[in-house]
Amino acid sequence: MKNKKQHSKQAKLFILVTLLLVLVIASFAFSGLTTVAATGTTAQKKDAPKPALIAVVGGTLIDGTGKEPLPNSVILIEGNKIKAVGPATQIKIPKEAQKIEATGKFILPGFIDCHIHLGTETSSLEYYRDSNSLATLRALQLMNNYLQCGVTAVRDVGSPVETMQALVRAQRNGYLDSIRLYPCGDLITITGGHAYSMHGALAVNGPWEWRKAVREMYAAGFKHIKISPQFTLEEARAAVEEARTLGLHITAHGGGGSDTIPPTMTNIAIKAGVECIEHLNEMDDEALDLMAEKGVFNVPTLQTYYASYQRNDISSFLIEKRGWSMAMHETLFKKAYARHILMGIGTDANGEYREMYPGIYFDEMRYFVRLGMSPMEAIVCATRNGARILGLEDELGTIEAGKAADLQIVRDNPLKSFDNLGHPELVILRGKLTWGRASGSSL
Ligand SMILES: [Zn+2]
Repeated sequence: MKNKKQHSKQAKLFILVTLLLVLVIASFAFSGLTTVAATGTTAQKKDAPKPALIAVVGGTLIDGTGKEPLPNSVILIEGNKIKAVGPATQIKIPKEAQKIEATGKFILPGFIDCHIHLGTETSSLEYYRDSNSLATLRALQLMNNYLQCGVTAVRDVGSPVETMQALVRAQRNGYLDSIRLYPCGDLITITGGHAYSMHGALAVNGPWEWRKAVREMYAAGFKHIKISPQFTLEEARAAVEEARTLGLHITAHGGGGSDTIPPTMTNIAIKAGVECIEHLNEMDDEALDLMAEKGVFNVPTLQTYYASYQRNDISSFLIEKRGWSMAMHETLFKKAYARHILMGIGTDANGEYREMYPGIYFDEMRYFVRLGMSPMEAIVCATRNGARILGLEDELGTIEAGKAADLQIVRDNPLKSFDNLGHPELVILRGKLTWGRASGSSL
């Protein structure tokens, strides 16, 4: 028994020592593993892509707020946002930043087109039989063209739902990398109303159907709503109420435009509570006063009207019976400007007018200046005002710390002439570089 006991004691001791040894070895091994793991983490942290740093250095900054230009500026971009902006003497440029030399050049925010129909047709023949696939490709072509011209965001106020959904989703999923797109989907009108037969219109009747149409656009993923005449006050109110409930922005085609549309539509839309009026036509002083009082925005689209008169596309009924002429639009512009109604740049070059892109955007800016705005005010229309109309003034439209890194570098001083606009040397969109239309850049 004693022997057995001794033997058992020895065995226990042996097991204990072995266990201890195993523990010591294991702890060493584990600490080793921990070290490896820790090193691995450190290495991963080191290798993880840091947001790219870009410093645009030495250019004269026109930041979109209307402030005096800032010479010899530095704009520091981190990832897709502007991190810091100021005079070169005050902004420290980190060593690892990619420097973009802009001395002697001018830096502006990316421009915004507040009224476009990207997906609509190129000819009246296609007007009725276009496919959504073709419309999508055509829309993308214009978006990419705009990007090279310094226009970095658009509000689409009526294009086929499927086309707009495809583009928005493709951007979100990373299939394409183009300008920012804020679509309304189908514009909402009545049976037989303005743009009723356009590819990208939804015709409904009565307040509940109008409400439902807004819900449908919301369900389809859109954050903007466009209503088009004719509409009764009840229909427009239903749409506005529903848009407000769902947190959507809502704009209305203003005035007439077709022989059968009464000239009272703008007043009705403003009374119903829309945020913005598209175009400037057939508005009385009451409508303009109400817009000013309620802070309703306007997108005049003058250049498209000008082209329509040139091409005899305005009906003789409107010209002879309703007093339509370019002078009417111009007078309304001056009245709106005098009332400090906030205006944005919109093009609206639909169908066969599509060939006017991209130049029409800059022609519209020039038109504003011809009618009395300063070049700086027209630049603010193209930038900060555009962002306000989109409801994104905290995110876009100006070159300020915290805003999206959407900007362009142009060769000539835009406060002296807009001739060089549309030909930027470099466009930065979401912090990424895109060479502009001006080739042979020295940047
Ligand atoms: Zn339009």
